[in-house]
Amino acid sequence: MLLRACSICGRPGPTSRCDRHPKPPKRTGSYTRNAAKVRAAATICHLCGKPFDDPNDPPVADHVLPREAGGSDDLSNLRPAHRSCNGRKGATIGPWVAP
Ligand SMILES: [Zn+2]
Ligand SMILES: [Zn+2]
Repeated sequence: MLLRACSICGRPGPTSRCDRHPKPPKRTGSYTRNAAKVRAAATICHLCGKPFDDPNDPPVADHVLPREAGGSDDLSNLRPAHRSCNGRKGATIGPWVAP
């Protein structure tokens, strides 16, 4: 079984939140709006730490805790990342073929 740590207190458990720190209710439909805010305020990529200076590699709103793991679309769970960095991160879950 895959164990995660509570994102508040760090206690291991089956989800990213323990009993004492339940997840806030998920707000749906806010991703598009929040992602636009994240992209507009993007300065450096939260995955590689570099600025967004390549017009061919624009910022995207990356989920800190993936949706599949129960992550929300709230601003608190979104960080700017290069499209390429986000793609690499996502590839850690599925198969990845080198370009
Ligand atoms: Zn906790
Ligand atoms: Zn990056």
